[in-house]
Amino acid sequence: MAVVDRIATFAPIREKIEANERLDLEDGLTLIESDDLLALGELADLARRVRGGTDEVFFVQNLYLNQTNVCRVKCKFCAFARTQRQEDAYTISTDELVEDALRQYELTGFTEIHMVNGENPHIEFEFYVDVTRRLHEALPAVHLKLFTASEIHHMTTLSGLTHEEVLRELKAAGLGSLPGGGAEIFAERVRRLVAPGKESPDIWFHVHDAAHRMGIPTHCTMLYGHVETYEERIDHLLRLRDQQNRTGGFLAMVPLAFHPENTVFERRGFNFTSGAEDLKMIAVSRLMLDNVPNIKAYWIMMGMPMAQVALHFGANDVQGTVMREKIFQAAGATAGTEQKVGDLVRQIREAGRIPVQRDTLYNELRRW
Ligand code: SF4
Repeated sequence: MAVVDRIATFAPIREKIEANERLDLEDGLTLIESDDLLALGELADLARRVRGGTDEVFFVQNLYLNQTNVCRVKCKFCAFARTQRQEDAYTISTDELVEDALRQYELTGFTEIHMVNGENPHIEFEFYVDVTRRLHEALPAVHLKLFTASEIHHMTTLSGLTHEEVLRELKAAGLGSLPGGGAEIFAERVRRLVAPGKESPDIWFHVHDAAHRMGIPTHCTMLYGHVETYEERIDHLLRLRDQQNRTGGFLAMVPLAFHPENTVFERRGFNFTSGAEDLKMIAVSRLMLDNVPNIKAYWIMMGMPMAQVALHFGANDVQGTVMREKIFQAAGATAGTEQKVGDLVRQIREAGRIPVQRDTLYNELRRW
């Protein structure tokens, strides 16, 4: 009887998916409140295939950089940021950063640099333009995916320029795309609790909107598993979907599980999200975001074995080799900081999928 009930609950949603129709808020709540994990995974995989997905799973060879951990904002979920006076605060000079990137490039030949930073109030806008230009000159074939929307907004406060003007200068210097960080959860109630110093969601959206309209693609994220409700998660996904309708510039969605270690939430007894919750968020993201082509199972966050399972829950990308990840490491991630290409290929194959190495813009570089 229980099985029949569950099938009946999802039946109208399945019909919509099979007809490639859009799911609404109520559908989203039905999905996210369900404990029927396998049914969710099956529906998400169906949605992926109905929308043109195949057995291909993407990854990119990338290098993670964080030039400074000095930040003025103090988000309560963050274990990475420091104030200038703290002993382990750092700001790497551009010379040193570029030299380091060149050394790593010799070793691995990555195709993407992913760099996000604290909002350092002690540097000038020119610093950001300079590092973008210098990285681009040193590694012209490498795609520069730099700076969250929060950092772009921070640059407007440093320079007095608009979002569009900041983005134009960075694009001229070599910026290729923006990562999706800073979205957290858009609901005001949640933001007030976990990131009271952070700019409003309208600003996050304005930066991404401006970037898309200027031909700069971006990524989107959601940081879940702290004080938000299920309804606030679905609201977050719907706002992303609306933005994608307007401008179409999101390349991929990355659901990010909150890691409490070394944050105030650890002292308040918060735990890491469960594997079941992580799989649910991958599946629900795929089901609700019918206009975002790629859903990433970020192995640094969920661990590679769970990422392999997530490939059957709607994900079609495992992010990449991710050399030198620091932000999730600071908050207690234990999945390591780097995967070799051969290991990624093997793990994707073991999950029953076809590994495809891509560039940042999802052009195929090599099919394994
Ligand atoms: S999440 Fe980003 S903006 Fe917030 S404190 Fe950490 S580094 Fe600063």
